Amino acid sequence: MKVLIADDTKSNQLLFRTYIESEGHEVVTVSNGIEAVSAFKKEIPDLILLDVVMPEMDGYEAASRIKKLCEKRNLWIPIIFLSAMISDEDVVKGIEAGGDDYLTKPVSQTVLNAKLKAMQRIAAMREELERANQKLKDLAELDGLTGISNRRHFDYRLSKECRLARRSKEPISLVMADIDYFKSFNDHYGHQGGDDCLKLVAKTLSPLISRTGDLVARYGGEEFVVILPNTDADGALMVAEKMRQAIESLEIDNEGSSVSRFVTMSLGIATEIDVENIQPAELIETADKNLYKAKEAGRNSVIG
Ligand code: GH3
Ligand code: MG
Ligand code: MG
Repeated sequence: MKVLIADDTKSNQLLFRTYIESEGHEVVTVSNGIEAVSAFKKEIPDLILLDVVMPEMDGYEAASRIKKLCEKRNLWIPIIFLSAMISDEDVVKGIEAGGDDYLTKPVSQTVLNAKLKAMQRIAAMREELERANQKLKDLAELDGLTGISNRRHFDYRLSKECRLARRSKEPISLVMADIDYFKSFNDHYGHQGGDDCLKLVAKTLSPLISRTGDLVARYGGEEFVVILPNTDADGALMVAEKMRQAIESLEIDNEGSSVSRFVTMSLGIATEIDVENIQPAELIETADKNLYKAKEAGRNSVIG
Protein backbone atom coordinates (compact mmCIF):
# COMPACT_ATOMS: atom_id res chain seq x y z
CA MET A 1 0.00 0.00 0.00
CA LYS A 2 0.99 3.58 -0.54
CA VAL A 3 0.09 5.62 2.57
CA LEU A 4 -0.15 9.40 2.64
CA ILE A 5 0.47 10.99 6.08
CA ALA A 6 -0.51 14.61 6.72
CA ASP A 7 0.70 15.97 10.07
CA ASP A 8 2.27 19.34 10.88
CA THR A 9 4.46 17.85 13.62
CA LYS A 10 7.66 16.44 12.16
CA SER A 11 8.17 14.01 15.05
CA ASN A 12 4.69 12.55 14.44
CA GLN A 13 5.42 12.19 10.72
CA LEU A 14 8.60 10.33 11.55
CA LEU A 15 6.97 8.09 14.15
CA PHE A 16 4.04 7.07 11.92
CA ARG A 17 6.39 6.58 8.99
CA THR A 18 8.47 4.15 11.06
CA TYR A 19 5.35 2.27 12.22
CA ILE A 20 3.94 1.92 8.74
CA GLU A 21 7.14 1.23 6.83
CA SER A 22 7.88 -1.61 9.25
CA GLU A 23 4.86 -3.39 7.71
CA GLY A 24 6.34 -2.98 4.23
CA HIS A 25 4.15 -0.09 3.08
CA GLU A 26 5.34 2.93 1.10
CA VAL A 27 4.92 6.31 2.85
CA VAL A 28 4.54 9.90 1.62
CA THR A 29 4.46 12.70 4.23
CA VAL A 30 3.09 16.28 4.02
CA SER A 31 2.57 19.02 6.61
CA ASN A 32 -0.89 20.54 6.05
CA GLY A 33 -4.27 20.07 4.37
CA ILE A 34 -3.43 21.91 1.15
CA GLU A 35 -0.36 19.75 0.65
CA ALA A 36 -2.44 16.68 1.46
CA VAL A 37 -4.93 17.48 -1.32
CA SER A 38 -2.23 18.09 -3.92
CA ALA A 39 -0.23 15.02 -2.82
CA PHE A 40 -3.44 13.01 -3.11
CA LYS A 41 -3.86 14.13 -6.75
CA LYS A 42 -0.24 13.41 -7.59
CA GLU A 43 0.27 10.15 -5.74
CA ILE A 44 -3.23 8.59 -5.59
CA PRO A 45 -2.39 6.74 -2.36
CA ASP A 46 -4.24 3.65 -1.12
CA LEU A 47 -4.88 5.14 2.31
CA ILE A 48 -4.60 8.55 4.00
CA LEU A 49 -3.78 9.39 7.62
CA LEU A 50 -4.89 12.91 8.48
CA ASP A 51 -4.10 15.04 11.50
CA VAL A 52 -7.00 17.37 12.37
CA VAL A 53 -5.36 20.61 13.53
CA MET A 54 -2.92 21.80 10.88
CA PRO A 55 -1.98 25.25 9.51
CA GLU A 56 -3.29 26.51 6.11
CA MET A 57 -6.06 23.90 5.89
CA ASP A 58 -7.25 21.55 8.62
CA GLY A 59 -7.83 17.83 8.28
CA TYR A 60 -11.66 18.07 8.07
CA GLU A 61 -11.50 20.39 5.08
CA ALA A 62 -8.80 18.31 3.39
CA ALA A 63 -10.84 15.13 3.95
CA SER A 64 -14.01 16.56 2.43
CA ARG A 65 -12.08 17.87 -0.60
CA ILE A 66 -10.35 14.55 -1.13
CA LYS A 67 -13.60 12.60 -0.78
CA LYS A 68 -15.24 14.86 -3.39
CA LEU A 69 -12.37 14.20 -5.80
CA CYS A 70 -12.64 10.48 -5.09
CA GLU A 71 -16.34 10.56 -5.94
CA LYS A 72 -15.64 12.31 -9.25
CA ARG A 73 -12.94 9.80 -10.13
CA ASN A 74 -14.94 6.84 -8.90
CA LEU A 75 -12.30 5.90 -6.32
CA TRP A 76 -12.60 4.77 -2.74
CA ILE A 77 -9.58 5.70 -0.65
CA PRO A 78 -9.94 5.28 3.13
CA ILE A 79 -9.13 8.23 5.37
CA ILE A 80 -8.20 7.73 9.02
CA PHE A 81 -8.05 10.76 11.29
CA LEU A 82 -5.24 10.79 13.83
CA SER A 83 -5.94 13.49 16.37
CA ALA A 84 -5.15 14.57 19.92
CA MET A 85 -8.77 15.78 20.24
CA ILE A 86 -10.78 13.08 21.93
CA SER A 87 -14.32 14.42 22.42
CA ASP A 88 -17.32 12.66 20.87
CA GLU A 89 -18.03 15.78 18.79
CA ASP A 90 -14.55 15.62 17.24
CA VAL A 91 -15.06 12.03 16.21
CA VAL A 92 -18.50 12.83 14.72
CA LYS A 93 -17.07 15.80 12.83
CA GLY A 94 -14.27 13.65 11.41
CA ILE A 95 -16.63 10.96 10.19
CA GLU A 96 -18.99 13.55 8.70
CA ALA A 97 -16.11 15.19 6.84
CA GLY A 98 -15.58 11.85 5.09
CA GLY A 99 -13.25 10.04 7.48
CA ASP A 100 -13.60 6.26 7.67
CA ASP A 101 -12.09 5.97 11.14
CA TYR A 102 -10.88 8.23 13.92
CA LEU A 103 -7.95 7.37 16.18
CA THR A 104 -6.72 9.45 19.10
CA LYS A 105 -3.07 10.24 19.63
CA PRO A 106 -0.95 8.79 21.00
CA VAL A 107 -1.67 5.66 18.97
CA SER A 108 0.23 2.39 19.30
CA GLN A 109 2.01 0.77 16.39
CA THR A 110 -0.08 -2.38 16.84
CA VAL A 111 -3.43 -0.56 16.72
CA LEU A 112 -2.42 1.64 13.78
CA ASN A 113 -1.30 -1.31 11.68
CA ALA A 114 -4.39 -3.32 12.63
CA LYS A 115 -6.56 -0.43 11.40
CA LEU A 116 -4.55 -0.30 8.16
CA LYS A 117 -5.21 -4.01 7.65
CA ALA A 118 -8.94 -3.56 8.23
CA MET A 119 -9.11 -0.73 5.67
CA GLN A 120 -7.14 -2.77 3.18
CA ARG A 121 -9.67 -5.57 3.59
CA ILE A 122 -12.59 -3.22 2.93
CA ALA A 123 -10.83 -1.75 -0.13
CA ALA A 124 -10.26 -5.24 -1.54
CA MET A 125 -13.91 -6.14 -0.97
CA ARG A 126 -15.07 -3.00 -2.74
CA GLU A 127 -12.84 -3.76 -5.71
CA GLU A 128 -14.19 -7.29 -5.89
CA LEU A 129 -17.76 -5.95 -5.77
CA GLU A 130 -17.03 -3.42 -8.51
CA ARG A 131 -15.57 -6.14 -10.73
CA ALA A 132 -18.60 -8.38 -10.14
CA ASN A 133 -20.97 -5.49 -10.90
CA GLN A 134 -19.17 -4.73 -14.15
CA LYS A 135 -19.33 -8.39 -15.13
CA LEU A 136 -23.08 -8.50 -14.44
CA LYS A 137 -23.57 -5.35 -16.46
CA ASP A 138 -21.66 -6.85 -19.40
CA LEU A 139 -23.61 -10.10 -19.16
CA ALA A 140 -26.96 -8.28 -19.12
CA GLU A 141 -26.12 -6.88 -22.56
CA LEU A 142 -25.15 -10.19 -24.17
CA ASP A 143 -27.10 -13.01 -25.76
CA GLY A 144 -26.57 -16.23 -23.81
CA LEU A 145 -26.16 -18.50 -26.84
CA THR A 146 -24.06 -16.48 -29.26
CA GLY A 147 -22.25 -14.03 -26.98
CA ILE A 148 -23.10 -11.03 -29.18
CA SER A 149 -25.36 -8.17 -28.04
CA ASN A 150 -28.91 -9.13 -27.12
CA ARG A 151 -32.24 -7.58 -28.04
CA ARG A 152 -32.32 -5.44 -24.90
CA HIS A 153 -28.96 -3.86 -25.66
CA PHE A 154 -29.92 -3.44 -29.31
CA ASP A 155 -33.09 -1.52 -28.33
CA TYR A 156 -31.07 0.73 -26.05
CA ARG A 157 -28.39 1.40 -28.67
CA LEU A 158 -30.87 1.99 -31.49
CA SER A 159 -32.67 4.74 -29.54
CA LYS A 160 -29.32 6.26 -28.67
CA GLU A 161 -28.06 6.17 -32.27
CA CYS A 162 -31.35 7.68 -33.51
CA ARG A 163 -30.94 10.53 -31.02
CA LEU A 164 -27.36 11.07 -32.20
CA ALA A 165 -28.46 10.98 -35.86
CA ARG A 166 -31.11 13.65 -35.17
CA ARG A 167 -28.45 15.86 -33.66
CA SER A 168 -25.68 15.26 -36.22
CA LYS A 169 -28.13 15.13 -39.18
CA GLU A 170 -26.20 12.13 -40.50
CA PRO A 171 -28.08 9.23 -42.14
CA ILE A 172 -28.54 5.96 -40.28
CA SER A 173 -29.15 2.45 -41.60
CA LEU A 174 -30.48 -0.76 -40.14
CA VAL A 175 -30.06 -4.27 -41.53
CA MET A 176 -32.39 -7.12 -40.52
CA ALA A 177 -31.18 -10.60 -41.38
CA ASP A 178 -33.00 -13.92 -41.07
CA ILE A 179 -31.62 -17.38 -41.77
CA ASP A 180 -33.48 -19.16 -44.58
CA TYR A 181 -35.27 -22.45 -43.93
CA PHE A 182 -33.95 -22.65 -40.43
CA LYS A 183 -36.90 -24.65 -39.21
CA SER A 184 -35.91 -27.41 -41.66
CA PHE A 185 -32.31 -27.10 -40.51
CA ASN A 186 -33.40 -27.77 -36.93
CA ASP A 187 -35.68 -30.60 -37.99
CA HIS A 188 -32.85 -32.22 -39.92
CA TYR A 189 -29.80 -31.60 -37.72
CA GLY A 190 -31.46 -31.31 -34.32
CA HIS A 191 -31.68 -28.42 -31.90
CA GLN A 192 -28.02 -28.70 -30.88
CA GLY A 193 -27.00 -28.51 -34.53
CA GLY A 194 -29.21 -25.44 -34.88
CA ASP A 195 -27.61 -23.79 -31.88
CA ASP A 196 -24.12 -24.48 -33.23
CA CYS A 197 -25.13 -22.95 -36.54
CA LEU A 198 -26.44 -19.80 -34.82
CA LYS A 199 -23.17 -19.46 -32.91
CA LEU A 200 -21.13 -19.78 -36.10
CA VAL A 201 -23.33 -17.26 -37.92
CA ALA A 202 -22.89 -14.74 -35.07
CA LYS A 203 -19.14 -15.33 -35.03
CA THR A 204 -18.98 -14.77 -38.78
CA LEU A 205 -21.06 -11.59 -38.78
CA SER A 206 -19.32 -9.88 -35.85
CA PRO A 207 -15.99 -9.02 -37.51
CA LEU A 208 -17.79 -7.68 -40.61
CA ILE A 209 -19.36 -4.97 -38.48
CA SER A 210 -16.30 -3.07 -37.46
CA ARG A 211 -16.79 0.69 -37.52
CA THR A 212 -17.10 2.43 -34.16
CA GLY A 213 -20.78 2.92 -33.37
CA ASP A 214 -21.79 -0.11 -35.49
CA LEU A 215 -23.56 -2.87 -33.61
CA VAL A 216 -24.53 -6.43 -34.46
CA ALA A 217 -27.07 -8.12 -32.24
CA ARG A 218 -29.25 -11.22 -32.06
CA TYR A 219 -32.77 -9.89 -32.49
CA GLY A 220 -34.47 -13.19 -31.68
CA GLY A 221 -34.45 -16.88 -32.79
CA GLU A 222 -32.56 -16.94 -36.12
CA GLU A 223 -32.77 -13.20 -36.71
CA PHE A 224 -29.85 -10.82 -36.50
CA VAL A 225 -29.83 -7.07 -36.73
CA VAL A 226 -27.14 -4.50 -37.48
CA ILE A 227 -27.10 -0.77 -36.65
CA LEU A 228 -25.00 1.33 -39.03
CA PRO A 229 -24.77 4.96 -37.92
CA ASN A 230 -23.51 7.59 -40.43
CA THR A 231 -24.24 5.13 -43.23
CA ASP A 232 -26.30 5.79 -46.39
CA ALA A 233 -28.18 3.28 -48.54
CA ASP A 234 -25.16 2.39 -50.70
CA GLY A 235 -22.98 1.74 -47.66
CA ALA A 236 -25.67 -0.37 -45.98
CA LEU A 237 -26.16 -2.39 -49.18
CA MET A 238 -22.43 -3.15 -49.25
CA VAL A 239 -22.45 -4.34 -45.64
CA ALA A 240 -25.59 -6.44 -46.12
CA GLU A 241 -24.23 -8.06 -49.28
CA LYS A 242 -20.98 -8.84 -47.48
CA MET A 243 -23.02 -10.49 -44.70
CA ARG A 244 -25.04 -12.55 -47.18
CA GLN A 245 -21.90 -13.76 -48.98
CA ALA A 246 -20.04 -14.52 -45.74
CA ILE A 247 -22.84 -16.82 -44.53
CA GLU A 248 -23.25 -18.57 -47.89
CA SER A 249 -19.51 -19.17 -48.17
CA LEU A 250 -19.44 -20.94 -44.79
CA GLU A 251 -20.96 -23.83 -46.77
CA ILE A 252 -22.95 -25.21 -43.83
CA ASP A 253 -25.11 -27.96 -45.35
CA ASN A 254 -28.85 -27.39 -45.17
CA GLU A 255 -30.66 -30.35 -46.69
CA GLY A 256 -34.06 -28.75 -46.12
CA SER A 257 -33.38 -25.55 -48.05
CA SER A 258 -35.04 -25.05 -51.45
CA VAL A 259 -32.70 -22.25 -52.54
CA SER A 260 -29.25 -23.62 -51.85
CA ARG A 261 -27.37 -26.67 -50.62
CA PHE A 262 -26.08 -24.47 -47.83
CA VAL A 263 -27.34 -22.25 -45.01
CA THR A 264 -28.21 -18.82 -46.43
CA MET A 265 -29.60 -15.57 -45.16
CA SER A 266 -32.14 -13.03 -46.41
CA LEU A 267 -31.61 -9.40 -45.52
CA GLY A 268 -33.73 -6.24 -45.47
CA ILE A 269 -32.33 -2.72 -45.16
CA ALA A 270 -33.80 0.53 -43.88
CA THR A 271 -31.94 3.81 -44.44
CA GLU A 272 -33.10 7.18 -43.18
CA ILE A 273 -31.52 10.32 -44.63
CA ASP A 274 -34.13 12.77 -43.43
CA VAL A 275 -33.29 12.09 -39.80
CA GLU A 276 -35.08 15.07 -38.20
CA ASN A 277 -38.00 13.01 -36.87
CA ILE A 278 -36.47 9.60 -37.04
CA GLN A 279 -38.04 6.92 -34.81
CA PRO A 280 -36.44 3.53 -34.02
CA ALA A 281 -39.75 1.72 -34.63
CA GLU A 282 -39.98 3.08 -38.19
CA LEU A 283 -36.50 1.86 -39.06
CA ILE A 284 -37.30 -1.59 -37.71
CA GLU A 285 -40.60 -1.71 -39.59
CA THR A 286 -38.99 -0.74 -42.92
CA ALA A 287 -36.10 -3.19 -42.53
CA ASP A 288 -38.58 -5.93 -41.61
CA LYS A 289 -40.75 -5.20 -44.68
CA ASN A 290 -37.69 -5.36 -46.94
CA LEU A 291 -36.62 -8.61 -45.29
CA TYR A 292 -40.05 -10.03 -46.11
CA LYS A 293 -39.60 -8.88 -49.73
CA ALA A 294 -36.19 -10.59 -49.86
CA LYS A 295 -37.87 -13.82 -48.71
CA GLU A 296 -40.59 -13.36 -51.36
CA ALA A 297 -37.97 -12.69 -54.01
CA GLY A 298 -36.50 -16.14 -53.47
CA ARG A 299 -34.37 -15.81 -50.31
CA ASN A 300 -30.53 -15.66 -50.08
CA SER A 301 -30.84 -12.04 -51.20
CA VAL A 302 -30.70 -8.43 -50.02
CA ILE A 303 -33.44 -5.80 -50.49
CA GLY A 304 -32.85 -2.16 -49.61
P1 GH3 B 1 -37.70 -18.63 -43.61
O1 GH3 B 1 -36.78 -19.07 -44.70
O2 GH3 B 1 -38.97 -18.10 -44.14
O3 GH3 B 1 -37.04 -17.68 -42.67
O4 GH3 B 1 -38.07 -19.94 -42.80
P2 GH3 B 1 -37.54 -20.42 -41.41
O5 GH3 B 1 -37.78 -21.87 -41.29
O6 GH3 B 1 -36.12 -19.96 -41.19
O7 GH3 B 1 -38.39 -19.55 -40.43
P3 GH3 B 1 -39.40 -19.90 -39.28
O8 GH3 B 1 -39.69 -18.60 -38.63
O9 GH3 B 1 -40.56 -20.70 -39.81
O10 GH3 B 1 -38.60 -20.81 -38.28
C1 GH3 B 1 -37.56 -20.32 -37.50
C2 GH3 B 1 -37.00 -21.51 -36.76
O11 GH3 B 1 -35.79 -21.15 -36.11
C3 GH3 B 1 -37.87 -22.01 -35.66
C4 GH3 B 1 -36.92 -22.71 -34.76
O12 GH3 B 1 -36.88 -24.08 -35.12
C5 GH3 B 1 -35.57 -22.08 -35.09
N1 GH3 B 1 -34.99 -21.38 -33.96
C6 GH3 B 1 -35.31 -20.18 -33.45
N2 GH3 B 1 -34.53 -19.88 -32.38
C7 GH3 B 1 -33.68 -20.92 -32.22
C8 GH3 B 1 -32.63 -21.22 -31.28
O13 GH3 B 1 -32.31 -20.46 -30.37
N3 GH3 B 1 -31.97 -22.40 -31.44
C9 GH3 B 1 -32.30 -23.25 -32.43
N4 GH3 B 1 -31.62 -24.38 -32.53
N5 GH3 B 1 -33.28 -23.01 -33.30
C10 GH3 B 1 -33.96 -21.88 -33.21
MG1 MG C 1 -37.48 -15.82 -38.44
MG1 MG D 1 -35.81 -17.88 -41.05
